[in-house]
Amino acid sequence: MTTQLFTAPPSPQGWSLVLHGGAGGRVEELSLEVAADYSAGLTTAYRAGEAVLAAGGSALDAVCATVEALEDDPLFNAGRGAALTSAGTAELDACVMTGDGRAGAVAACLHARNPVHAARRVLEDSAAVLLVDPPRQLLEDWALTTVERDYFLTPARVQQLRNVQDKVLAGSRHGTVGAVARDTAGRVAAATSTGGMVDQSEGRVGDTPIVGAGTYARDGVGAISCTGHGEAFMQGVVAYDVAARVRYLGTPLDQALVDTVAAELDTRDAIGGLIAVGADGRIVVGHNSPAMFAAYSDGTRLVTHT
Ligand code: ASP
Repeated sequence: MTTQLFTAPPSPQGWSLVLHGGAGGRVEELSLEVAADYSAGLTTAYRAGEAVLAAGGSALDAVCATVEALEDDPLFNAGRGAALTSAGTAELDACVMTGDGRAGAVAACLHARNPVHAARRVLEDSAAVLLVDPPRQLLEDWALTTVERDYFLTPARVQQLRNVQDKVLAGSRHGTVGAVARDTAGRVAAATSTGGMVDQSEGRVGDTPIVGAGTYARDGVGAISCTGHGEAFMQGVVAYDVAARVRYLGTPLDQALVDTVAAELDTRDAIGGLIAVGADGRIVVGHNSPAMFAAYSDGTRLVTHT
């Protein structure tokens, strides 16, 4: 499989942001079989994080603002409009990590309107790193907005599940969202959020909330957010593998991403994509899948991949 690679140099304003909206088969398979303006959703999410960074805010605030916007957009597989389990339910996973080594994650989260904020509360207010099905009362104690489980369901996702179960559509559809950023203080952060794979078993958890698999950040090295066939990303510890190549081998970030995809995804016959920001603010987007949704600035203008 060939890895398609896109890079942007460190920006003169001193901060950088890149987001993804999933990687998978053809673009129209990435998320939903609906004619919609995915570019508008990517742009809105980019602007949310950009506003934080341009005002001197933290990389953590920026990635959370960007992922929140994508979770709220029903076109993407996260938050409302997430992919459904075989039982027709939404089980949400999310992770946030900061370059100083802190991380928080939730798996099978059922009641947080924005799972990324639940993950952040775990990072900031819990002794744990990963909470499975965090109790609604705890989410409310954290002043998070909670919702009934059917809030996440959309007619398009119900139809998509039916099509997959009736074998009208192929099974493993992707569309997870994520963002990585470097702020003007040089700190990096990553956030990833998903409903998982369409028609997955109830209780199945993929790479997204697993530190080092789908999400990783380390100051002085970079931040990485992944999307694709979660089991391969977990077995290959993919996000961490990219960071380790940079940190221990001195491999440039773009080459590290290509080497990791070859070593850990291609060998498993798995497809997916990664976004990364380097310690210096350079941006890398890479995928061995036919398509990937992404948005970043190339220095002069906003680039969206749809
Ligand atoms: N990686 C996610 C998972 O396996 C799916 C995706 O990226 O779309 O749960």
